[in-house]
Amino acid sequence: MGNEKPIGVAVLGLGNVGSEVVRIIEDSAVDLAARIGAPLELRGVAVRRVADDRGVPAALLTDNVEELVSRDDVDIVVELMGPVEPARKAILSALEQGKSVVTANKALLAQSTGELAQAAERAHVDLYFEAAVAGAIPVIRPLTQSLAGDSVLRVAGIVNGTTNYILSEMASTGADYSSALADASALGYAEADPTADVEGYDAAAKAAILASIAFHTRVTADDVYREGITKVTPADFEAAKALGCTIKLLSICERITTADGQQRVSARVYPALVPLTHPLATVNGAFNAVVVEAEAAGRLMFYGQGAGGAPTASSVMGDVVMAARNRVQGGRGPRESKYAQLPIAPMGVIPTRYYVSMTVNDRPGVLASVADEFGKREVSIAEVRQEGITDEDGVPAGARIVVVTHRATDAALSETVSALADLDAVQSVNSVLRLEGTAE
Ligand code: NAP
Repeated sequence: MGNEKPIGVAVLGLGNVGSEVVRIIEDSAVDLAARIGAPLELRGVAVRRVADDRGVPAALLTDNVEELVSRDDVDIVVELMGPVEPARKAILSALEQGKSVVTANKALLAQSTGELAQAAERAHVDLYFEAAVAGAIPVIRPLTQSLAGDSVLRVAGIVNGTTNYILSEMASTGADYSSALADASALGYAEADPTADVEGYDAAAKAAILASIAFHTRVTADDVYREGITKVTPADFEAAKALGCTIKLLSICERITTADGQQRVSARVYPALVPLTHPLATVNGAFNAVVVEAEAAGRLMFYGQGAGGAPTASSVMGDVVMAARNRVQGGRGPRESKYAQLPIAPMGVIPTRYYVSMTVNDRPGVLASVADEFGKREVSIAEVRQEGITDEDGVPAGARIVVVTHRATDAALSETVSALADLDAVQSVNSVLRLEGTAE
């Protein structure tokens, strides 16, 4: 290699991911320079706490993000600080000053992707975010580049390791939600405040990013229908097992044709029954997987570590090398593609299947009145199970009815569940989950 001008990098954040990114930049300098065609030089690292014990020469550390981003010798800004602010301000400033940006910040992207993409467009620079969805797993680049000539129909995945760990624990040990969450916290898989994970916000942010890319349409986290896993019970897992299924928190992005013949995008997150034979059923613990279905390619599956400092840094560094190469060779990678601008489909029009578990009075005619509520809304029943239940003293206390439906609109299904809850014979509707990954 000759005297190519070095590419200057600023890393914002020195936490789980940032510290691994800095390590790779330093440890793999020779290889990275060969792959890029110019040396990659670390200009500085932004942190809140500047100190000598950070594992990075103190001269490289700063708590002044804006000053670091604005340095003339910084070409690429790698944002790994976290929350929406100050990350948004730092990224916009970097883009406006003509620097390429790499970020892993899904919360920010799912909220402000348009604003950031426009700033990148105006400055003719790269904005890359492979690490924002499913950590180490390459899924953004396959969707934007490898499948650019195909037509994506569906992207469905397990993209949150915390909830997948909790659900896997519940499935394998029979634990209830609270003790599985406590285990996940003790092992460092759940944050002190797990809300973003267990209520599905993190998975919804990733669904928004995937749907935007897969369907060339701007989708934000607010467009994503979302349910978390906090209401999933051991009884649901028992019922799932009896049906040959397990329960997974799925992020689903789909291009659908609604009854009015219009193409729409559906993006949704909820816990669902998944047949044990489906590839996503075997994804356990903190692992992630994304299944992409495209018209010509058919079904593709991407699987691996969805979080963690080093795995996420791998994705970040892939983006850094791409952005650096573009700087050396001139040009840019793919820009935001939003030409299709498909409308977002409301949850009510989405065809889904339901599993409903309810406790009813054990007397003649109850099953018929339950079936009647489904029939009235043209929801066809695929399977019914009924078993007697007793109270703590062994006295008969009614019956449990489990119904699995065929596909119907979500609105018809949820109306049916409301009507069932109002029936005199129904003591309680205990659980309602959707069923995914089946033909009908
Ligand atoms: P983290 O461990 O909490 O580290 C955040 C870093 O940012 C810290 O070094 C912190 O400085 C610094 N920072 C925060 N606010 C700052 C400010 N105002 N000015 C300067 N520095 C600031 O976070 P992380 O787990 O590495 O995650 C980083 C990003 O990657 C997030 O967007 C996250 O969503 C995303 N991500 C993480 C993972 C993962 O497995 N961890 C996976 C995929 C994506 P101090 O050290 O001084 O406090």
